[in-house]
Amino acid sequence: MDNEVPQGNVPQQGFETLAIHAGQEPDPTTGAVVPPIYQVSTYKQDGIGGLRGGYEYSRSANPTRTALEECFAAIEGGTRGLAFASGLAAEDAILRTLLRPGDHVVIPNDAYGGTYRLFARVAEPWGVSYDPVPLGDLSAVRAAMRPDTKIVWVETPTNPLLGVSDIAALAAIAHEGGALLVVDNTFASPYLQQPLALGADIVVHSTTKYVGGHSDVVGGALAVQDAELGDRLAFHQNAMGAVAGPFDSWLTLRGIKTLGVRMDRHCDNAEKIVEMLVAHRSVKQVLYPGLPDHPGHDVAVKQMKRFGGMISFRAWSAEDAVRICERTTLFTLGESLGGVESLIEHPGRMTHASAAGSPLEVPADLVRLSVGIEDVADLIADLEHALS
Ligand code: PLP
Repeated sequence: MDNEVPQGNVPQQGFETLAIHAGQEPDPTTGAVVPPIYQVSTYKQDGIGGLRGGYEYSRSANPTRTALEECFAAIEGGTRGLAFASGLAAEDAILRTLLRPGDHVVIPNDAYGGTYRLFARVAEPWGVSYDPVPLGDLSAVRAAMRPDTKIVWVETPTNPLLGVSDIAALAAIAHEGGALLVVDNTFASPYLQQPLALGADIVVHSTTKYVGGHSDVVGGALAVQDAELGDRLAFHQNAMGAVAGPFDSWLTLRGIKTLGVRMDRHCDNAEKIVEMLVAHRSVKQVLYPGLPDHPGHDVAVKQMKRFGGMISFRAWSAEDAVRICERTTLFTLGESLGGVESLIEHPGRMTHASAAGSPLEVPADLVRLSVGIEDVADLIADLEHALS
């Protein structure tokens, strides 16, 4: 797919133009080309209800957050964007808006552990049931649909097994069953994949990752095309109050400006590292959607521009996996992903520890890499040393 983002009736602009300009007109009072950090909680009213620019209280709206929300909607090809304090806060707003006790959700059998925890430990005790399903198997998804299914929740590529599922096909199944399709686009980023254009109803992100891109801010965001759905989600954003603060919004907006160039470099580096790992005797299996033998490769080719900067691989044992994670020096041992610096982690004991003993438990011999944008020769040398 190309990187043109549909924009209603106005001429289409390219992804990077939108990333740099959407929602970011020069400041009307000073001409500042970057939206200022409106570090403010309240706004002077010219008489009761006389709001200048529509702002009354920063939980409801703040100009720096508005700039981020408009830009985010534009780069996801949506009409409405909403920014939250974290990815999980954004996910929670979806749950509270669309679900009621008695409803049912189809979730991936491989997903971020915190997402699974939200369904298993927050939504289920509230009366929402869920079924983890391998989303690459469309007949399994059809079989899991029930009359009370309200959401089919998709993560593609998945964290941490890099599974790929067909967004357009899943949208058709969800809509046939009267459910909405939610896509967590965190691993791909809107530069590589545009779920709304493929039929998704809501796109959710941990903007902490590629969108922010510099490991200096925690945030989340939603994008939708349907105005009424956008209003319902915005109601919960304000009613529950887990909004992105002005400085966090500003950092995220700054990250978005370079998202396209960063993603291309993440992909370049990841492709070269995959080549090295595939040939390495200490590696049992490499999980990367760009590999022709990856089970989701054909779908990834169809719906992604490139294959991303995340790589997982299996070592020959759990002990080997832990040892590799602890021996790198340039790849920093740490949770999170999507920043300019390379990270390594052991999902079983770190990011996905909350899925232990569940259907989403990950293999103990798994290592996950978030490939940064450093010089790739240095990254390869660091991994070769850790694998030796
Ligand atoms: N979705 C995915 C795919 C993630 O990897 C994460 C966090 O790692 C989240 C959602 C949750 O985001 P946050 O940590 O910003 O709350």
